[in-house]
Amino acid sequence: AKSAGGNRFEFADPESDARAITRHGLTTALPTALDRGEFFIEYQPLVHLEDGRVHGAEALVRWLHPQHGVLGPDRFIPLAEHTGLIVPLGRWVLEESVQQARAWQEKHDRTGPLRINVNLSPCQLTHPGLVSDTVEILAEAGLEPDALCLEVTESALIGADDALLKPLRRLAEMGVDIALDDFGTGYSNLANLRRLPVRTLKLDRSFTQSMQRFPADPVDLKIVEGIVSLAHSLDLAVTVEGVETGAQAEQLRILGCDTAQGWYYARPGPPDRLHELALMDATG
Ligand code: C2E
Ligand code: CA
Ligand code: CA
Ligand code: CA
Repeated sequence: AKSAGGNRFEFADPESDARAITRHGLTTALPTALDRGEFFIEYQPLVHLEDGRVHGAEALVRWLHPQHGVLGPDRFIPLAEHTGLIVPLGRWVLEESVQQARAWQEKHDRTGPLRINVNLSPCQLTHPGLVSDTVEILAEAGLEPDALCLEVTESALIGADDALLKPLRRLAEMGVDIALDDFGTGYSNLANLRRLPVRTLKLDRSFTQSMQRFPADPVDLKIVEGIVSLAHSLDLAVTVEGVETGAQAEQLRILGCDTAQGWYYARPGPPDRLHELALMDATG
């Protein structure tokens, strides 16, 4: 922080100094962390709102740091994006979670396969290896492309040109689902949705939070209702995240949302936990 310049206030704030030191330490430790296998993935189920069946899971990466313990992605993904490590890290997450999804399929023979959702950072979108890596990872694991959903944030696609959309289109043509993550937080033009190779809208948690009050704000209800009906008229599915209570789940179900994710169903957890949950609803 001190190098930021003499007339900044930052250096007088010990807390921000400590944060900057940690940030620096984490940044330098990132590349070796990948080699040392310090990253791991937790899986959070996505369920069908209509009947509560498990639809799949989102892969969420964590770092088991030797000194700081478990760090959430908000602590290191921005650093990894800044240094470019996000490309190999993101590829590792994809490979690991695709293999995991295949393992779930083999372990329990259900009619519909469990799907796996993986977050893509904007840097991965512009990386030339995205399509070929994904094809290779799916083929190696023996997972059908339609069991994979790649989540891209709305902000990453705002103003996206054709060059940026091309790899996503290729993946979508193969059957990979593309979801627009954190939908409603950017100011994307709804008409713009038609241009994007997206099949799922993932409504941001802020919408779910507004359903916490009862009765919910009528304007919030109208907004969600409008988004859902627009999405469905464009053949898009709607997922909601951050569902923490049964009342929220019920409200969102009534509003017509398709799938949901949140602590009300399960916190992110180890892969076996998801297997147990899916098995539970397969056996009733
Ligand atoms: P996201 O994609 O929006 O993921 C949802 C976040 O909400 C996760 O935080 C999840 O643990 C949290 N969450 C789930 N249910 C609830 C709930 O009911 N209430 C509340 N308050 N929170 C809930 P997490 O795991 O800390 O991940 C944060 C963000 O880090 C993710 O936001 C995603 O943008 C990013 N991220 C995670 N894994 C990866 C990855 O492998 N690659 C990339 N590029 N980004 C990742
Ligand atoms: Ca996500
Ligand atoms: Ca999200
Ligand atoms: Ca988010």
